Amino acid sequence: MTIYDSPYPAMEVAPPNTIFRHHLPAQPRFPDYPAFIDAITGRTVTLSGLRKTALQLGVGLREKYNLKPKSRVIIYSPNSVDFPIIFFGCQSIGVITSLANASYTAKELAHQIRDGQADLAFVHPAIFEAYIGAIEILKKEGNKIPKVFWAISGDTVPAELKEKTKGIEAYDSILATQQQVGDFAGVELNKGDYEDCAVLCYSSGTTGLAKGVMTTHQNLNVVGQISRAASPPSMKNGKGQLILGVLPMFHIYGMVKLINYPLTIGIPVVVLPKFVDTLFFGSIQKYKITYAFLVPPIILHLANNPIAEKFDLSSLQNVMSGAAPLGAGLTKKVKQRFPWLNVSQGYGLTETTAPCHSQNVEDGQRFFGSCGKLLPNLQVRLVDIDLKDVKVGTPGEICIRGPTIMKGYWNNEKATKESFFDGDWYRTGDIAQIDEHGNYFIVDRLKELIKYKGFQVPPADLEALLLTHPKVDDVGVIGITSVEKATELPRAYVVPSGDFANMSDVAKMALSQELIDWVASEVANHKQLRGGCILIEAIPKSAAGKILRKELRERAKVDDQQK
Ligand code: AMP
Repeated sequence: MTIYDSPYPAMEVAPPNTIFRHHLPAQPRFPDYPAFIDAITGRTVTLSGLRKTALQLGVGLREKYNLKPKSRVIIYSPNSVDFPIIFFGCQSIGVITSLANASYTAKELAHQIRDGQADLAFVHPAIFEAYIGAIEILKKEGNKIPKVFWAISGDTVPAELKEKTKGIEAYDSILATQQQVGDFAGVELNKGDYEDCAVLCYSSGTTGLAKGVMTTHQNLNVVGQISRAASPPSMKNGKGQLILGVLPMFHIYGMVKLINYPLTIGIPVVVLPKFVDTLFFGSIQKYKITYAFLVPPIILHLANNPIAEKFDLSSLQNVMSGAAPLGAGLTKKVKQRFPWLNVSQGYGLTETTAPCHSQNVEDGQRFFGSCGKLLPNLQVRLVDIDLKDVKVGTPGEICIRGPTIMKGYWNNEKATKESFFDGDWYRTGDIAQIDEHGNYFIVDRLKELIKYKGFQVPPADLEALLLTHPKVDDVGVIGITSVEKATELPRAYVVPSGDFANMSDVAKMALSQELIDWVASEVANHKQLRGGCILIEAIPKSAAGKILRKELRERAKVDDQQK
């Protein structure tokens, strides 16, 4: 067995604690500061304000709505300064907090509510329609319907929505019931076991549909500490630093880097509801942002978008890219345009509580295309398809163990069992190669997952959907790489029902467009068939009936060459 250790010295991590106490202690290490700033309105939540309102919310949820440790709450919202308040409000009483993708459709959201058996939901008004749709689905099925609150404060709920949805209150109506709690001296916080599940983000893992990843208090507290090993020195004390909060907080990368990590160092986060180029560049200029956690498609804007010229971006010192591969070519382009900017790359999964590998500033400027070195306190093995360790220097599936690996999949022992081997080694489904300096390069993906702009697209999801279409007999979905867009694009290979051999080209084109449009009407934006839909005679399958995605990927290369 060949075990790779981190080149960083092992770290002594903070003693066991809940996320709430670790991130928002009664005596904060850093003096009160503006923890979260709304990029558009400038509304600010200070560290002490965050602690106080989160505690009021938590106590209100416990006393008025009977939530207990391990009850489940779902947050369905784009980024806002209210998001961390709601998150830590739930965490203050040990409630498991399930974070849903804000672009989910009714069906996708219903899956997450049903799967996690949510007791209560915080929903942003801008995406309320999908929530209503999800509730209708759950009602029809006879499932439990969570009590709902707005995920924004009462005075910002649009008047016409208030009128239309009487009975739904904003989350801060719960705080109003707890004003008497004052400074909370004597309030009994959840003692929460360090190993308990704190958060559920959904991931398909190596195969199948989205599953709830049980991230523990320990996972979250430790990841913030070990990732500091690769942080630039300026980020270690945080003085004069400002982070841009454009990553979605509902994804593990955004949750860890925007909600958790800055609080332990005392760095303000300027929160953007979503990526819009003028808002992105404008916020860097307006707030003099120094650090941005990004994904490759946003880095592409840094490299190419002409709008960038209109803004002064000189405050930006460091950019970290994660969630998807950042190619050497794109890194070089950004560095040519902004020679002072440090661009580094990290690698991680929902199941590893975001980063397990990260480049420090020096490596980022030297080893383009690498996702960095293994973070401290973690260990890696590279294995072949039979789970045998590969020869040193050759690529293999990267398997990891350590204190940031998830507890397992929620209510899914089978999937949990399948994702670990030899005890506690977690299989990532990614193929990596390590160079002589200990730099990791992700060279391929063994698992079926597709990533569109950093968001997961489980092929099984699209395949199950397409199989319900009356004109589809069989289907296999793969990702194709678009270098221009710095992302993968989902593509479906479909066997149409009926006589394929005698189908005209015009009929084939019409049907593939019909299926692309139909899928777009049924799924979240990031799952659309942007890579196309191609009709074929048969889906390549193994003797056991498994889709041979590798063959489909080979076929895609040929199809794209012929275009
Ligand atoms: P998620 O759980 O949504 O964070 O997705 C995790 C997956 O994203 C990993 O298993 C990889 O396939 C991919 N990924 C994340 N970071 C990188 C990276 N730096 N390079 C290549 N793939 C990455």
